[in-house]
Amino acid sequence: MKKNKRSTIIKRFLLLLIFFIIVATTSVIFFYFSFSSKLKIEKKTQTQILTQALSDIVEYLHEIEKSSAMTEEQAKKLAINALKNARYENNGYFWINATNGDMIMHPFADETYGPNQMDLQDIKGNFFFREFLEKARDGGGWVEYYWPKPGETKAYKKIAYVVIFEEWEWIIGTGIYVDEMDASIFKTLLQTSGVISLLLLVFIVFIFFEARSLIKDLNELAIKDNLTGLYSKFFFNETIKIFLKRHKRNPQLFLTLFFLDLDHFKRINDTYGHAIGDMVLEKVGKILLDNTRSEDLCVRYGGEEFLIAGFFNTLEEVQNYAERIRSQIEGTNFLTRKYYFNATISIGIAAHDQENSIEKTIKTADKQLYIAKSNGRNRVEIDDSLKKKAF
Ligand code: GH3
Ligand code: MG
Ligand code: MG
Repeated sequence: MKKNKRSTIIKRFLLLLIFFIIVATTSVIFFYFSFSSKLKIEKKTQTQILTQALSDIVEYLHEIEKSSAMTEEQAKKLAINALKNARYENNGYFWINATNGDMIMHPFADETYGPNQMDLQDIKGNFFFREFLEKARDGGGWVEYYWPKPGETKAYKKIAYVVIFEEWEWIIGTGIYVDEMDASIFKTLLQTSGVISLLLLVFIVFIFFEARSLIKDLNELAIKDNLTGLYSKFFFNETIKIFLKRHKRNPQLFLTLFFLDLDHFKRINDTYGHAIGDMVLEKVGKILLDNTRSEDLCVRYGGEEFLIAGFFNTLEEVQNYAERIRSQIEGTNFLTRKYYFNATISIGIAAHDQENSIEKTIKTADKQLYIAKSNGRNRVEIDDSLKKKAF
C-alpha cells in the first residue's frame, strides 16, 4: 500500500508533466501558425506601402512635368532611374511595364523575358502579365507566378504587388519570393519559439526540483515512513515527550532506547540493487513492528537506522527483546528471482536517566551501537547504566 501510494504519486506527477508538455507544445504550435500568418500579412502590407510610395514619386515627377519644369521624357527618365535603384530587404526591387506589355524597366531581367510580356507564360502556363494588368486596373493587387531570382535561371514562386499609373500607362510592380519570405518568417519564429521553449524547459526543470523538495519536506512532516510503515523521526520527536512524562510518574520502569543499524547495508545495495535494498528495509520494518507492543515507539530514524523506545521491567526483558529482533532478522532469507541472501543488524541499548536529556540517551545508545559494530556486528550491546539499574 505504502509503495503503491508512492508510485501513484509519481505516476500522477508524471501524468501532470505530460499534460503540461502537451499543452505547452500545442501552445507553441498555435503561436507559430498564428504568428506566421500575421507576419505574412505584415510583410505584404509593407510591400504594398512601399509600392505606393514609389508610385507617389512617379506621380510627383509627372506633376513637375505638367508644370512644364521638365519634359515628359526627362520626368520619365528620372522616374525610371529612381525605381531602378530602389531596393529593400534581400532581393526586393521594382519593375515597370507599359500597359501593352512592353518592358520599360527591369533591373535584372534579360532578353528572354522581353521586350513584350503580354503573351509570356510562366512554368505553370499562366499568362501572368495579363493578370498584372487586370489586378492593376482593379486598383492594385497581388498576383502569384513563377519568376527567376536575380542571377539565376530557375523560376521560383513569387507574389507580386502591382499598381497602375494611368497618365503614363505604366504598371509598377514589385515581388516577394515565397520561399525567401517563408524562410525569414521561419527564422524569426524559430528564434522566438526557441526562447519560449527554453523558458518552458527551465520552468519544467524548476517545477520538477521544487516538487521533489516539496515531497521531501512533506515526508519529513509525515507521521509514518512510506517504505517501512514505521513512525517518522518527526513523530518520534513529538511523541517522546509523552514517554518522558510517563517515566517521571513511573521511575521504577526502564525507559529504554534501542538504536538499530543494518550491517553492511551499502554492500547489499551495491550487490543486489537499490530496489532489493528497499525490500530488505520493508521486511526489517515488518519484523520490528511484529515484535513491538502497541505502546512502544518504533521509528525509522534514518536510511537504515531504527530507534525503538519502550518501557521494560527488567534487564532480561530488554535483552530478550533485542535478541529476538536480532535473531529474527539474521534468520530471514531474502529471496529474489536471481539471489538468495541474509542480512544482519547491530543494536545498541541505553536506559534513560531523568537527570539527562533524551538526546543524551540517544547518543549513549548510538555509542553502544558503535561498539556492537566494532565487536563484529550482528550483536547487541547494552550500556552499563541499564545494567546498573537492573542489579
Ligand atoms: P555498517 O555496517 O557500518 O552500518 O555499514 P553500512 O554499509 O550499513 O553503512 P553506511 O552508512 O556506509 O551505508 C548505509 C547505506 O544505506 C547507504 C545508503 O545508500 C543506504 N540507504 C539509506 N537509505 C536507503 C533507502 O531508503 N533505501 C535503500 N535501498 N538504501 C538506503
Ligand atoms: Mg547507518
Ligand atoms: Mg549500516
